[in-house]
Amino acid sequence: MTATAIHTDAVIVGAGPVGLFQAFQLGLQDIRTHIIDALPYAGGQCVELYADKPIYDIPGIPVCTGRELVAQLQTQIQPFAPTFHFNQEVSEVTRLDDGQLSVRTSAQQHFICKVLVVAAGVGAFQARKLAVEGAAALEGTHVHYRLGDASRFADQDVVVLGGEESAVAAALKLTLAAKPPRSVTLMHRRDVFTVEPVLLQAMRDAVAKGQLQLQIGQHTALLSAANQMHAVQVATPDGQTIERPAQQVLAFLGLSPKLGPIAHWGLAMERKQLVVNTESFATDVPGIFAVGDINTYPGKKKLILCGFHEATLAAFGAAAIVHPTRKTLLQYTTTSTELHRLLGIA
Ligand code: FAD
Repeated sequence: MTATAIHTDAVIVGAGPVGLFQAFQLGLQDIRTHIIDALPYAGGQCVELYADKPIYDIPGIPVCTGRELVAQLQTQIQPFAPTFHFNQEVSEVTRLDDGQLSVRTSAQQHFICKVLVVAAGVGAFQARKLAVEGAAALEGTHVHYRLGDASRFADQDVVVLGGEESAVAAALKLTLAAKPPRSVTLMHRRDVFTVEPVLLQAMRDAVAKGQLQLQIGQHTALLSAANQMHAVQVATPDGQTIERPAQQVLAFLGLSPKLGPIAHWGLAMERKQLVVNTESFATDVPGIFAVGDINTYPGKKKLILCGFHEATLAAFGAAAIVHPTRKTLLQYTTTSTELHRLLGIA
Protein backbone atom coordinates (compact mmCIF):
# COMPACT_ATOMS: atom_id res chain seq x y z
CA MET A 1 0.00 0.00 0.00
CA THR A 2 1.40 3.45 -0.85
CA ALA A 3 0.30 6.09 1.63
CA THR A 4 -0.43 9.69 0.65
CA ALA A 5 2.75 11.58 1.40
CA ILE A 6 2.88 14.03 4.30
CA HIS A 7 4.72 17.18 3.22
CA THR A 8 6.64 18.89 6.02
CA ASP A 9 9.68 21.07 6.67
CA ALA A 10 11.50 18.53 8.81
CA VAL A 11 11.37 14.92 9.92
CA ILE A 12 13.16 13.81 13.09
CA VAL A 13 14.08 10.15 13.41
CA GLY A 14 13.92 9.31 17.12
CA ALA A 15 11.90 10.74 20.02
CA GLY A 16 14.67 10.35 22.61
CA PRO A 17 15.70 13.39 24.69
CA VAL A 18 17.77 14.83 21.86
CA GLY A 19 15.08 14.28 19.19
CA LEU A 20 12.57 16.03 21.46
CA PHE A 21 14.84 19.02 22.07
CA GLN A 22 15.55 19.10 18.34
CA ALA A 23 11.85 19.77 17.74
CA PHE A 24 12.10 22.73 20.15
CA GLN A 25 15.14 24.21 18.44
CA LEU A 26 13.63 23.72 14.98
CA GLY A 27 10.46 25.38 16.29
CA LEU A 28 12.48 28.44 17.29
CA GLN A 29 13.68 28.54 13.69
CA ASP A 30 10.04 28.46 12.48
CA ILE A 31 10.42 24.91 11.19
CA ARG A 32 7.56 22.44 11.69
CA THR A 33 8.39 18.82 12.43
CA HIS A 34 7.15 15.27 12.41
CA ILE A 35 8.89 12.89 14.85
CA ILE A 36 9.02 9.15 14.23
CA ASP A 37 9.98 6.48 16.77
CA ALA A 38 9.98 2.70 16.78
CA LEU A 39 8.81 2.73 20.41
CA PRO A 40 5.16 3.36 21.38
CA TYR A 41 6.17 6.45 23.43
CA ALA A 42 8.70 9.27 23.60
CA GLY A 43 11.86 9.23 25.71
CA GLY A 44 14.36 6.88 24.09
CA GLN A 45 16.95 5.49 26.54
CA CYS A 46 15.74 7.80 29.35
CA VAL A 47 12.36 6.07 29.49
CA GLU A 48 13.31 2.64 28.18
CA LEU A 49 16.46 2.05 30.22
CA TYR A 50 16.35 4.27 33.34
CA ALA A 51 12.90 5.86 33.68
CA ASP A 52 12.98 6.00 37.49
CA LYS A 53 16.69 6.55 38.05
CA PRO A 54 18.10 10.01 38.80
CA ILE A 55 20.06 12.19 36.36
CA TYR A 56 22.29 14.84 37.95
CA ASP A 57 23.97 16.55 34.99
CA ILE A 58 21.25 18.44 33.15
CA PRO A 59 22.03 22.18 33.41
CA GLY A 60 19.67 23.98 35.76
CA ILE A 61 18.00 20.76 36.97
CA PRO A 62 19.94 19.48 40.00
CA VAL A 63 18.18 16.11 39.84
CA CYS A 64 15.35 14.49 37.89
CA THR A 65 14.49 10.99 36.74
CA GLY A 66 14.67 9.90 33.12
CA ARG A 67 10.88 9.99 32.90
CA GLU A 68 10.69 13.45 34.48
CA LEU A 69 13.22 14.88 32.03
CA VAL A 70 11.22 13.54 29.10
CA ALA A 71 7.97 14.93 30.54
CA GLN A 72 9.61 18.38 30.85
CA LEU A 73 10.92 18.21 27.29
CA GLN A 74 7.45 17.27 26.04
CA THR A 75 5.99 20.28 27.85
CA GLN A 76 8.70 22.54 26.44
CA ILE A 77 7.99 21.58 22.81
CA GLN A 78 4.21 21.98 23.09
CA PRO A 79 4.19 25.48 21.50
CA PHE A 80 5.52 23.93 18.29
CA ALA A 81 3.11 20.99 18.29
CA PRO A 82 5.30 18.44 16.52
CA THR A 83 3.36 15.46 15.19
CA PHE A 84 4.45 12.12 16.66
CA HIS A 85 4.37 8.84 14.76
CA PHE A 86 5.09 5.94 17.11
CA ASN A 87 5.47 2.19 16.68
CA GLN A 88 7.25 2.52 13.36
CA GLU A 89 10.80 2.43 12.15
CA VAL A 90 12.13 4.78 9.52
CA SER A 91 13.17 2.29 6.90
CA GLU A 92 14.08 4.19 3.74
CA VAL A 93 15.48 7.62 2.90
CA THR A 94 15.98 8.73 -0.69
CA ARG A 95 16.41 12.04 -2.51
CA LEU A 96 13.75 13.23 -4.94
CA ASP A 97 14.48 15.01 -8.22
CA ASP A 98 13.44 18.37 -6.71
CA GLY A 99 16.08 17.99 -3.96
CA GLN A 100 13.63 17.15 -1.17
CA LEU A 101 13.95 13.97 0.87
CA SER A 102 11.55 11.04 0.75
CA VAL A 103 11.24 9.20 4.07
CA ARG A 104 9.32 5.94 4.46
CA THR A 105 8.48 3.95 7.56
CA SER A 106 7.71 0.35 8.43
CA ALA A 107 4.05 1.41 8.87
CA GLN A 108 3.88 2.55 5.22
CA GLN A 109 3.90 6.22 6.17
CA HIS A 110 5.55 8.44 3.59
CA PHE A 111 7.00 11.88 4.30
CA ILE A 112 8.48 14.44 1.93
CA CYS A 113 10.66 16.92 3.76
CA LYS A 114 13.34 19.53 3.23
CA VAL A 115 15.53 18.37 6.09
CA LEU A 116 15.93 15.15 8.01
CA VAL A 117 17.47 15.04 11.48
CA VAL A 118 18.62 11.62 12.60
CA ALA A 119 18.40 11.48 16.42
CA ALA A 120 18.35 7.70 16.50
CA GLY A 121 20.55 7.17 19.56
CA VAL A 122 21.87 3.64 19.72
CA GLY A 123 19.26 2.47 17.24
CA ALA A 124 15.58 1.59 17.11
CA PHE A 125 14.38 -0.25 20.20
CA GLN A 126 12.94 -3.60 19.15
CA ALA A 127 11.48 -6.50 21.08
CA ARG A 128 14.06 -9.11 22.03
CA LYS A 129 13.11 -12.27 20.16
CA LEU A 130 12.54 -15.70 21.67
CA ALA A 131 15.78 -17.61 21.37
CA VAL A 132 14.33 -21.11 21.00
CA GLU A 133 14.28 -23.25 17.89
CA GLY A 134 11.32 -22.72 15.60
CA ALA A 135 10.17 -19.45 17.20
CA ALA A 136 10.84 -17.44 14.05
CA ALA A 137 8.62 -19.72 11.93
CA LEU A 138 5.75 -19.32 14.42
CA GLU A 139 6.05 -15.52 14.70
CA GLY A 140 2.79 -13.75 13.92
CA THR A 141 0.67 -16.90 14.09
CA HIS A 142 1.61 -18.41 17.48
CA VAL A 143 4.41 -16.20 18.79
CA HIS A 144 3.84 -12.50 19.43
CA TYR A 145 5.83 -9.61 20.87
CA ARG A 146 2.97 -7.24 21.64
CA LEU A 147 -0.54 -7.79 22.93
CA GLY A 148 -2.55 -5.90 20.29
CA ASP A 149 -6.23 -6.85 20.18
CA ALA A 150 -6.80 -9.28 23.10
CA SER A 151 -9.86 -10.82 21.40
CA ARG A 152 -7.61 -12.62 18.91
CA PHE A 153 -6.62 -14.98 21.76
CA ALA A 154 -10.21 -15.91 22.69
CA ASP A 155 -10.70 -19.57 23.69
CA GLN A 156 -7.01 -20.39 23.39
CA ASP A 157 -4.31 -21.25 25.93
CA VAL A 158 -1.92 -18.33 26.19
CA VAL A 159 1.48 -18.27 27.89
CA VAL A 160 2.86 -14.80 28.65
CA LEU A 161 6.64 -14.74 29.15
CA GLY A 162 8.43 -12.09 31.21
CA GLY A 163 8.81 -10.56 34.64
CA GLU A 164 8.44 -6.87 33.93
CA GLU A 165 5.49 -4.50 33.74
CA SER A 166 4.69 -5.18 30.08
CA ALA A 167 4.35 -8.95 30.72
CA VAL A 168 2.32 -8.68 33.94
CA ALA A 169 0.05 -5.96 32.51
CA ALA A 170 -0.58 -7.98 29.33
CA ALA A 171 -1.38 -11.16 31.31
CA LEU A 172 -3.88 -9.28 33.48
CA LYS A 173 -5.43 -7.55 30.48
CA LEU A 174 -5.99 -10.94 28.85
CA THR A 175 -7.83 -12.25 31.92
CA LEU A 176 -10.14 -9.21 31.75
CA ALA A 177 -10.82 -9.40 27.98
CA ALA A 178 -14.45 -9.43 26.82
CA LYS A 179 -13.73 -12.74 25.09
CA PRO A 180 -10.95 -14.14 27.30
CA PRO A 181 -8.52 -16.92 26.42
CA ARG A 182 -9.29 -20.44 27.70
CA SER A 183 -6.29 -20.09 30.05
CA VAL A 184 -3.66 -17.45 30.73
CA THR A 185 -0.31 -18.43 32.25
CA LEU A 186 2.29 -15.89 33.33
CA MET A 187 5.70 -17.51 33.17
CA HIS A 188 8.95 -16.13 34.58
CA ARG A 189 12.20 -17.77 35.62
CA ARG A 190 11.94 -16.43 39.21
CA ASP A 191 9.02 -15.53 41.44
CA VAL A 192 10.26 -11.93 41.43
CA PHE A 193 8.56 -9.32 39.27
CA THR A 194 9.87 -5.82 38.48
CA VAL A 195 6.53 -4.03 38.67
CA GLU A 196 4.76 -1.39 40.74
CA PRO A 197 3.28 -2.79 44.01
CA VAL A 198 -0.29 -2.15 42.84
CA LEU A 199 0.21 -4.19 39.67
CA LEU A 200 1.95 -6.94 41.62
CA GLN A 201 -1.00 -7.13 44.03
CA ALA A 202 -3.49 -7.28 41.13
CA MET A 203 -1.46 -10.14 39.63
CA ARG A 204 -1.32 -12.05 42.95
CA ASP A 205 -5.11 -11.53 43.40
CA ALA A 206 -5.83 -12.87 39.89
CA VAL A 207 -3.69 -15.94 40.67
CA ALA A 208 -5.49 -16.48 43.99
CA LYS A 209 -8.86 -16.31 42.20
CA GLY A 210 -7.71 -18.81 39.56
CA GLN A 211 -8.07 -16.30 36.71
CA LEU A 212 -4.34 -16.35 36.05
CA GLN A 213 -1.88 -19.21 36.40
CA LEU A 214 1.68 -18.57 37.51
CA GLN A 215 4.48 -20.79 36.23
CA ILE A 216 8.00 -20.30 37.52
CA GLY A 217 10.55 -21.70 35.11
CA GLN A 218 12.51 -21.16 31.94
CA HIS A 219 10.98 -21.83 28.52
CA THR A 220 13.19 -24.28 26.65
CA ALA A 221 11.17 -25.18 23.54
CA LEU A 222 7.98 -24.48 21.62
CA LEU A 223 6.26 -27.76 20.76
CA SER A 224 4.52 -27.78 17.42
CA ALA A 225 3.53 -30.07 14.59
CA ALA A 226 2.99 -28.88 11.03
CA ASN A 227 3.50 -25.28 12.22
CA GLN A 228 0.66 -25.62 14.77
CA MET A 229 1.93 -24.95 18.28
CA HIS A 230 0.38 -26.88 21.16
CA ALA A 231 2.68 -26.44 24.17
CA VAL A 232 5.66 -24.67 25.71
CA GLN A 233 8.33 -26.85 27.27
CA VAL A 234 9.52 -25.51 30.62
CA ALA A 235 12.52 -26.24 32.85
CA THR A 236 11.31 -25.72 36.42
CA PRO A 237 13.54 -24.52 39.30
CA ASP A 238 13.40 -28.02 40.88
CA GLY A 239 14.98 -29.57 37.79
CA GLN A 240 11.88 -31.01 36.07
CA THR A 241 10.91 -30.58 32.45
CA ILE A 242 7.19 -30.06 31.97
CA GLU A 243 4.85 -29.02 29.16
CA ARG A 244 2.37 -26.17 29.42
CA PRO A 245 -0.48 -26.33 26.90
CA ALA A 246 -0.28 -23.22 24.70
CA GLN A 247 -1.42 -22.31 21.23
CA GLN A 248 -0.21 -18.75 21.72
CA VAL A 249 2.91 -17.26 23.31
CA LEU A 250 3.31 -13.59 24.12
CA ALA A 251 6.96 -12.80 24.86
CA PHE A 252 8.02 -9.66 26.73
CA LEU A 253 11.74 -10.26 27.08
CA GLY A 254 12.84 -6.64 26.97
CA LEU A 255 13.89 -4.36 24.16
CA SER A 256 17.26 -4.04 22.52
CA PRO A 257 18.42 -1.28 20.16
CA LYS A 258 19.21 -2.14 16.54
CA LEU A 259 20.85 0.31 14.16
CA GLY A 260 18.83 -1.33 11.39
CA PRO A 261 18.21 0.48 8.11
CA ILE A 262 20.15 3.68 8.97
CA ALA A 263 23.29 1.90 7.80
CA HIS A 264 21.79 1.74 4.28
CA TRP A 265 20.91 5.41 3.74
CA GLY A 266 24.25 6.15 2.07
CA LEU A 267 25.56 8.29 4.95
CA ALA A 268 29.23 8.27 5.95
CA MET A 269 29.68 6.12 9.04
CA GLU A 270 32.41 5.27 11.50
CA ARG A 271 31.96 2.34 13.89
CA LYS A 272 28.15 2.35 13.46
CA GLN A 273 27.85 6.11 13.98
CA LEU A 274 27.10 8.90 11.53
CA VAL A 275 30.00 11.20 10.77
CA VAL A 276 29.07 14.89 11.14
CA ASN A 277 30.77 18.27 11.04
CA THR A 278 30.72 20.24 14.29
CA GLU A 279 29.55 23.48 12.69
CA SER A 280 25.99 22.34 11.99
CA PHE A 281 26.04 18.60 12.74
CA ALA A 282 25.29 17.94 9.09
CA THR A 283 26.19 14.54 7.68
CA ASP A 284 27.94 14.23 4.34
CA VAL A 285 24.53 14.21 2.60
CA PRO A 286 23.00 17.68 2.13
CA GLY A 287 19.84 18.20 4.17
CA ILE A 288 20.53 15.33 6.56
CA PHE A 289 21.75 16.13 10.08
CA ALA A 290 22.63 13.74 12.93
CA VAL A 291 22.47 14.63 16.63
CA GLY A 292 22.79 12.81 19.94
CA ASP A 293 24.23 9.36 20.51
CA ILE A 294 23.99 8.38 16.81
CA ASN A 295 26.70 10.79 15.62
CA THR A 296 30.47 10.87 15.88
CA TYR A 297 33.09 13.60 15.60
CA PRO A 298 36.43 14.32 17.31
CA GLY A 299 35.80 14.61 21.04
CA LYS A 300 32.25 13.23 20.93
CA LYS A 301 30.72 12.46 24.33
CA LYS A 302 27.44 10.54 24.52
CA LEU A 303 25.72 12.85 26.99
CA ILE A 304 22.28 14.44 26.84
CA LEU A 305 23.77 17.90 27.37
CA CYS A 306 26.05 17.46 24.33
CA GLY A 307 23.05 16.30 22.25
CA PHE A 308 21.17 19.48 23.22
CA HIS A 309 24.05 21.64 21.96
CA GLU A 310 24.23 19.64 18.73
CA ALA A 311 20.46 20.03 18.20
CA THR A 312 20.76 23.80 18.61
CA LEU A 313 23.43 24.17 15.93
CA ALA A 314 21.69 21.65 13.66
CA ALA A 315 18.56 23.82 13.79
CA PHE A 316 20.56 26.80 12.51
CA GLY A 317 21.89 24.57 9.73
CA ALA A 318 18.38 23.38 8.92
CA ALA A 319 17.05 26.96 8.85
CA ALA A 320 19.50 27.86 6.10
CA ILE A 321 17.91 25.11 3.96
CA VAL A 322 14.23 25.52 4.90
CA HIS A 323 14.27 29.35 4.80
CA PRO A 324 17.10 30.10 2.35
CA THR A 325 16.15 33.73 1.85
CA ARG A 326 15.90 34.58 5.56
CA LYS A 327 18.85 35.66 7.66
CA THR A 328 19.30 33.20 10.53
CA LEU A 329 20.22 35.67 13.25
CA LEU A 330 20.89 34.68 16.82
CA GLN A 331 17.96 35.80 18.98
CA TYR A 332 17.35 35.49 22.70
CA THR A 333 14.15 33.85 23.94
CA THR A 334 14.20 36.40 26.76
CA THR A 335 13.87 39.44 24.54
CA SER A 336 12.98 38.49 20.95
CA THR A 337 9.40 39.37 19.99
CA GLU A 338 9.74 37.06 16.99
CA LEU A 339 10.65 34.11 19.24
CA HIS A 340 7.81 35.07 21.59
CA ARG A 341 5.44 34.95 18.62
CA LEU A 342 6.73 31.48 17.67
CA LEU A 343 6.43 30.34 21.30
CA GLY A 344 2.87 31.61 21.38
CA ILE A 345 3.53 34.02 24.27
CA ALA A 346 3.48 37.29 22.37
P1 FAD B 1 18.06 7.73 22.45
O1 FAD B 1 17.73 8.12 23.82
O2 FAD B 1 18.76 6.42 22.25
O3 FAD B 1 16.75 7.77 21.57
C1 FAD B 1 16.78 7.38 20.21
C2 FAD B 1 15.39 6.99 19.77
O4 FAD B 1 15.43 6.77 18.36
C3 FAD B 1 14.90 5.69 20.39
O5 FAD B 1 13.65 5.90 21.03
C4 FAD B 1 14.78 4.72 19.20
O6 FAD B 1 13.67 3.82 19.30
C5 FAD B 1 14.61 5.69 18.04
N1 FAD B 1 15.05 5.15 16.74
C6 FAD B 1 16.29 4.74 16.38
N2 FAD B 1 16.34 4.36 15.10
C7 FAD B 1 15.08 4.54 14.62
C8 FAD B 1 14.48 4.32 13.35
N3 FAD B 1 15.16 3.88 12.28
N4 FAD B 1 13.16 4.57 13.23
C9 FAD B 1 12.43 5.03 14.29
N5 FAD B 1 12.96 5.27 15.51
C10 FAD B 1 14.26 5.02 15.66
N6 FAD B 1 23.34 10.79 29.83
C11 FAD B 1 23.53 11.93 30.57
O7 FAD B 1 23.78 12.98 30.02
N7 FAD B 1 23.40 11.87 31.94
C12 FAD B 1 23.10 10.73 32.63
O8 FAD B 1 23.03 10.71 33.85
C13 FAD B 1 22.89 9.53 31.87
N8 FAD B 1 22.56 8.36 32.46
C14 FAD B 1 22.40 7.23 31.70
C15 FAD B 1 22.08 6.02 32.34
C16 FAD B 1 21.92 4.87 31.59
C17 FAD B 1 21.60 3.58 32.31
C18 FAD B 1 22.08 4.90 30.18
C19 FAD B 1 21.91 3.65 29.36
C20 FAD B 1 22.38 6.09 29.54
C21 FAD B 1 22.57 7.27 30.29
N9 FAD B 1 22.88 8.48 29.68
C22 FAD B 1 23.04 9.62 30.44
C23 FAD B 1 23.05 8.57 28.21
C24 FAD B 1 21.78 9.19 27.59
O9 FAD B 1 20.64 8.44 27.95
C25 FAD B 1 21.93 9.23 26.08
O10 FAD B 1 23.04 10.05 25.77
C26 FAD B 1 20.67 9.83 25.45
O11 FAD B 1 19.55 9.02 25.69
C27 FAD B 1 20.85 10.00 23.95
O12 FAD B 1 19.67 10.54 23.46
P2 FAD B 1 19.24 10.37 21.93
O13 FAD B 1 17.96 11.14 21.82
O14 FAD B 1 20.40 10.72 21.09
O15 FAD B 1 19.01 8.81 21.74
